[in-house]
Order: sequence, then structure tokens, then C-alpha cells
Amino acid sequence: MSKTYGFDTLQIHAGARPDPATGARQTPIYQTTAYVFRDADHAAALFNLQEVGFIYSRLTNPTVAVLQERIATLEGGVGAMCCASGHAAQIMALFPLMAPGRNVVASSRAYGGTITQFGQTFKRFGWTARFVDMDDLDAVKAAIDDDTRAIFCETIANPGGYITDLDAISAIARDAGLPLIVDNTSATPYLCRPIEHGAALVVHSTTKYLTGNGTVTGGAVVDSGTFDWSASDKFPSLSQPEPAYHGLKFHETFGSLAFTFHSIAVGLRDLGMTMNPQAAHYTLMGIETLSLRMARHVENAQKIAEWLEADPRVTEVTYPGLASSPYHARVPRICPKGAGALFTFGVKGGYDACVRLVDSLELFSHVANLGDARSLIIHPASTTHRQLTETQQRAAGAAPEVVRLSIGIEDADDLIADLDQALARATA
Ligand SMILES: *Cc1c(COP(=O)(O)O)cnc(C)c1O
Repeated sequence: MSKTYGFDTLQIHAGARPDPATGARQTPIYQTTAYVFRDADHAAALFNLQEVGFIYSRLTNPTVAVLQERIATLEGGVGAMCCASGHAAQIMALFPLMAPGRNVVASSRAYGGTITQFGQTFKRFGWTARFVDMDDLDAVKAAIDDDTRAIFCETIANPGGYITDLDAISAIARDAGLPLIVDNTSATPYLCRPIEHGAALVVHSTTKYLTGNGTVTGGAVVDSGTFDWSASDKFPSLSQPEPAYHGLKFHETFGSLAFTFHSIAVGLRDLGMTMNPQAAHYTLMGIETLSLRMARHVENAQKIAEWLEADPRVTEVTYPGLASSPYHARVPRICPKGAGALFTFGVKGGYDACVRLVDSLELFSHVANLGDARSLIIHPASTTHRQLTETQQRAAGAAPEVVRLSIGIEDADDLIADLDQALARATA
């Protein structure tokens, strides 16, 4: 699809075409496991990756393929791989790059589940994660060594609303010959396109804003196509003969699409973290209205953050759209259309008042999710960030005395009224 179309057009049309068999205008849910080969030569060509097509839905499915193309287009990448969840996407992004003994330098402010996945579970693969404060550029440089294979951060880090200086981090990655992987879940390509700031790969939990209605989990890895996997000997899965694919050299054969082909032909084939076509359908429906929803999410978040900041019952508000945020100055450069819709605030009375506040809200749902059309609240220290130490919780912006809001697209005045009555009860 022509890259000259605007975002609002691409979010509806990219990757989709009327169904060739029936003319169906909406992308059908291709609920099938396998695809009939034309003949034996066709089957062999597909298995040799000499021809692109559908073999088996663990690897590829036409509904999922439309979503992959749509997300790649919106992010300005050359290709994308969709998988079962955001956490699956993180493994799928690192899998072609890592090996036992290798490390990833990651933001200490990443999503709580990411810190647990990287810090604990990856150890079983022999991978290590070095967590650093991405605002401390010297610490980022110092953490990189000969075994580092990637740098990982988030555009807008949940829960504290930290905006990462992607330009500064990608410059460090470039100097070190390493790919920068950016989790763009909280920003979405409507607010930020990390590839334009030097990211080699972009990962998403499509569970959140891209789907936008809290129906299905999913993940995506978008390939910028710009990283030279053969510039060093650090990425043998992509530059050297791949033993799991009869010696195929992915970079030599597929050029800028090497990563995408590897993550489907080897990653999905062998790790099996596949997105199902139903999930792809719900996410395609959601993406059609992404820009409209994000504009409202951001507008509501700004109004509510301003209202909270002016309220004497509130101790602090971490929204980067507020002039008081240390990340406010980065908004025009990194997220020019707005600072997202996730932030934390502190309540006078600390931990106990936070718990009472959560229990007193009527319109906000108390759930472990974000990026829903509905407004959501959670107390991170007792839920999403529970597995972290208090030091890690504070570093991640999830101190025990704060609650996190994910502002939805309802009427802002109704949300403010709900917060007002709950604050009254929490601080009574
Ligand atoms: C939710 C989330 C994830 C994990 O995604 P799942 O779809 O829940 O596996 C990763 N990163 C961020 C920023 C998230 O918000």
C-alpha cells in the first residue's frame, strides 16, 4: 500500500484487499489450520522459502498476515510478525539475536512483567538482562560489552509516564553496532514511530491500545529493515548459514526482510507462539479507529491529570503532559501528538488511602490491563509490580503509595466526578 496515504487511511486499508475468492470487503477470519498445495512442486517451493505462501497456521495465516502488514505500515517498517502476546513478542524479538552467555541492556523502568521475564525467566535460556536507567546515558554505555546483543526500552514507560529519549539511546546503539528494540505499546504508532528515532525493531503488546477494547491478547515485532545484520559476526542466526533451516543465510537471501522471515520461518515454526486468526480479527477491528481513540485518550488524560494536580488531596501526578513532569520537554520531539494516557498519582494517606480509593471508584475498573476504551485503575505495588523489590518498584515508578490510571475514552467530566467522590472517601 502506498506510503503516501495518511495514517487514518492506512489504519483502515493497509494490508487488506477484497477477498479474492468471495469479494468480502472486510478481512475474513481464515479459520483454517492448513492450506492445499497446488501440486508437489508448489509444496516444495513453499517449504524451501522460494515462494511465499501459506503452509500451516502455526507459521502463517491470511488474517494474521493482514494484521502484520497493517502494523508494519503504521510503524514505517518493512515487515512484522504477530504472535500470541506482548511477552511472546519480546521473546520473538530477542530469539534471533541471543544465545547462551549473551546479554540485553534493558530499561530499569520497563513494564513490571518485562522486568520479571528478562531478569528471571531469561536466565533459564542462559540470557542475562542488565537493567539500567535509560536517562543515565553513561550507565547505558557502561553496561554494553562484547556479549551484548540488543538494547531494549519503552517509548512511554508504564506506570510512571517516563518518556525515553529514543534519539540518544539509538545513537548509543548505533555506535555499539547493536539493534535498539523499542516497546511502543503505550504510545502506539499514532503518538510515536520509534523507527524514525533509530529503532531497529519495535515490539507491541497488541492486547492494549492497538486492539483497544480489552478482548484479546496479542503481540507484534516490527522490522525496520535498516539494521545490517552482517556488519559484525554478532548475529549468526541472521548472517551465517542457519542450521535450523538447512544452512540458509537469511540476510544474504532476504536482505532487509531477513529478520521478519527468520522470525516466522524459524521463530514461529519452532517456538510456536502463534497468534490465532480470531485474535487478529479483533485487533484489525480495533486498529481501524486507532487515531480517533488515541486522540481522545490523550485529551482526557491531559484534562484529568490537570484536575488531579490541582487537588489538595493528591500528592503528585506523573503525567508527562504536565509542565511539572521532568519528561515534559521530550513530548514535542518523541510524542508530538500527546503524552499517552497512562500515569500514576499519589494520594494523601499513602498505601491505605490508595487501597480505599481503588475500592471506592465506580466508573474506573480495577483490572490488570491498560489501553482499553474503558478507564482502568490499579495499585501496581500490590499487583503488576508485586514480584519486584521495593527498590525495583520505586525505580520503575511503582512506589507503594501511588496508583496507576489508564484513561479511557469516556466523557472526561464523568471520570473526574468518579475520581472526586472516591478521593473524598479515600481521604475522609
Ligand atoms: C502489557 C504489556 C506487555 C506484555 O504484553 P501481554 O500482551 O500482556 O503479554 C509488555 N509491555 C508493555 C509496555 C505492556 O503494557
